[in-house]
This record gives sequence, structure tokens and C-alpha cells, in this order.
Amino acid sequence: MPALTEFQQTVAKSASLSGTSLHTGEKTTLRLQPAPVDHGVRFKRKDLADEPTIDARIENVKTVERATTIGEGAVRVHTVEHVLSALAAMGIDNAVVEMDANEPPIGDGSAKPYVELIKKAGAAPQEAPRRYFDLREPLHVETKSGSLLVVLPDEKFRISCTQSGPDGRFTQFLSTEITPAVYEREIAPARTFVFYEDVQPLMEKNLIQGGSLENAVVIRGDAVLSKEPMRFTDEFVRHKILDIVGDLALFGHRLRGHVIAVKPGHGPNTELARCLSREYAKTAPMLQPRRMPAGEGALDINQVMEILPHRYPFLMVDRILGFEGETKITGMKTVTINEPFFAGHFPGHPVMPGVLQVEAMAQVASILLMKLAQSASRIGYFMSADEVKFRKPVFPGDTLFITAELIKARSNRLAKAHCSCVVNDAVVSEGDLMFTFLDK
Ligand SMILES: [Zn+2]
Repeated sequence: MPALTEFQQTVAKSASLSGTSLHTGEKTTLRLQPAPVDHGVRFKRKDLADEPTIDARIENVKTVERATTIGEGAVRVHTVEHVLSALAAMGIDNAVVEMDANEPPIGDGSAKPYVELIKKAGAAPQEAPRRYFDLREPLHVETKSGSLLVVLPDEKFRISCTQSGPDGRFTQFLSTEITPAVYEREIAPARTFVFYEDVQPLMEKNLIQGGSLENAVVIRGDAVLSKEPMRFTDEFVRHKILDIVGDLALFGHRLRGHVIAVKPGHGPNTELARCLSREYAKTAPMLQPRRMPAGEGALDINQVMEILPHRYPFLMVDRILGFEGETKITGMKTVTINEPFFAGHFPGHPVMPGVLQVEAMAQVASILLMKLAQSASRIGYFMSADEVKFRKPVFPGDTLFITAELIKARSNRLAKAHCSCVVNDAVVSEGDLMFTFLDK
């Protein structure tokens, strides 16, 4: 059962946290700031001229070695996964993460300090519904190094993770739903862990100046070295889940699905976020056209049928969205599998015939012409079509936005309109149509 409509949230007020950055060892301050609806999470480099911002989006991922780095232009922010994980899991959709360095403070190597920061700032509901992505088909990512990530459709956001170190050391498994309460209690406190053989070369090169047993658990052979005792017997797999939540937050939409991860890492995690993003683009509900005509002037189906004599199965307009001035009109048609032509065009491969898109253009254009003629007693007859191009196939489930713009009108007998059909912001067909008017 889908939950009741949930609203997007931002932080109620700003709040900050200071500490050491892992790679440079410098003191840094991170401040969460509220952000408007549909803003998402954006990092802001307060230490640079003009304070550039970087969207926490999968397109901006630059490197995934040991930590996830995002960037735009020459500006970078490193190790974004723990703060993103806490924001996503604690239900913050929109926020600005201001920093005076290129990396957040590492804290104790877990997401606990960020959860505390978010609770200090508080959550504020906003006036727009939260966007979920319900996966319909399984997705998977597999790497040469033996990582495997699968997402299955699910009503909840769940993660089942198997972590396994070199030579199968410290193999751990955990399966859990991710909710704010579960995350705060079971996942956020799990600290970063490293295998000694992996960090030794970095320590020699001084690449982890801020690294210490205070912000990571070090595994050397079969020994576990850390300042405080293990927080969970399976703390490592919990941290892997924490990282998955953070990396998948780069997808930008809330996922309802069950992630099954074997030996995850920032590389495969971000690859999965990229797959989700591609899948989302494929199945996303219709996008609004580039310019939705504003204001009055919309016509519902009854008004359309008062103007046009066409009827099922030949009425190719569901609604007129509006007019722009005297010369432009936008209508829409939802194309469903129940269109009679799909039965034969073509069996097993339904594609909307291009000529019917031209018919849709003609119907929409004739409504504009009738508005222009201030009369519905005469009907515009379609005389000719020039420069018609079919650019992309139209499938069941697509929404056609049909635009007609008058380019020539002679007396009120002849008119020419440039028309196009747009699906998901891409022109699928276009042409110049000529009309003449005759009394009904
Ligand atoms: Zn991590």
C-alpha cells in the first residue's frame, strides 16, 4: 500500500558542525541551511571566491576511489557520502551544505554527528509532495572485482548487504528497511573501516593527514584496532549500508526498492545510482513542455468537442492547455494502448502512425483558427502539408504536446501554421500546415 502523501522537507533552521577533514587534516566547518522545494542537496564552497555550488547529483560524480567526490568545473567536494546518507535517511530532501573546505569534517568516521546536526536543525515540511521512484523491473550492476548490486521492486526502501574483506575476512550480512528511526539507531553510528594493507601506502604518502583511530577502525590481519570498542559486532556491513544510502542519494529521487548488495563500494554504488537515473528518465511520467502556456484559455474535452466535429476514434486532442496571444496554441493528447490503431500498427510493436500526429496538429491548429475567426460556424479544412518530418516514434504511454503557431494568414480564407508534437521535451514530429475555411 502506498503511504499517504508525504511532503518534501528541508531543515527548519541552520546548524553547524566543526571538525577535522580526513585528507588534509585541516579544521573545517559544515553548516546546513534550509532550501526551497525541489532544490535537492547542494554543496557550497564558502572558502572560494564567488562561493560556487555543486549539485549532489550523479552527473557530477568525479572520482569514487575510497570516497565519493563530486565536482562542477574545477571545483570539487570530497567524501560527500556520509552527510548525504544522513540527510537522505533522516528525510531531508532540500538543503544547502555550506563548507569552508573541500571536504566535510570526518567526525568519528560514522554518520552519527550528521544525524545529530540534522536533529539540532530540525525538519520542516514543505508544500510539495515528495518524489518517489517505484522501480518496476529489476536492475543490476556487476563489476570485474566481484561486486554485485541488484535492485528489486519493493514497496519500501530496503538494503540487504553482504560485506567481505580481502581473503573473505570479516564477512558480514545484514538486511534492513531504511527508515529514519532504524537508520539513526542501527546504521548511522557504524564507523568507517579500513584494511591496514590498503591505507599503509597512503599514510606513507601523507594522503590521509586527518586519519586516525578516532575516525576509522583499522583491520590488521585478524586484529581490529580502534579507539573505542566495536559499536556492533557487524559494524562493517552497517557502514557499507550507510555508504550505499549516501551514494544512492546522488540519484536524486527517493527509491522504493530492495537493494541487494554483495561487496559494495563507491564505484558500484554510484554506477547503480547512474542506472537508476537512466531508468527513471525512461519511465518518468510526462515532463512538462518547455513553455506551458499560462493563464486562462484552457479548454476541456467538452469545450473541444463543441468546437471540433471529430469524434472517437478520430478526435486527436484531449485538452487545449492554452493560447499565447493570438497566434499560438498548445494542446495535448495522452496516447494509450487502447487506441484502435495500435491493434494493427503494428501487432507486437505498437507505434502511433505519423499521419495521425499530423491529424492531431491539424485539429489543434484549427481550434486556433476558429478562435481567430471568432466563429465556430465555419470549419478549417486542411489543404496541404509541407516540410513534414517524423523524428521519433510515439509509443503507448506517451503524452503528446501539440503546438501550432500561425505563420501566415490571408484574409480569413487561408492560413498557414507551423506545428509540432513534443514528447518528454523532444520534438517527435513537425510540419507546416495550410488551411482554408468553409462554412459548416
Ligand atoms: Zn563510508
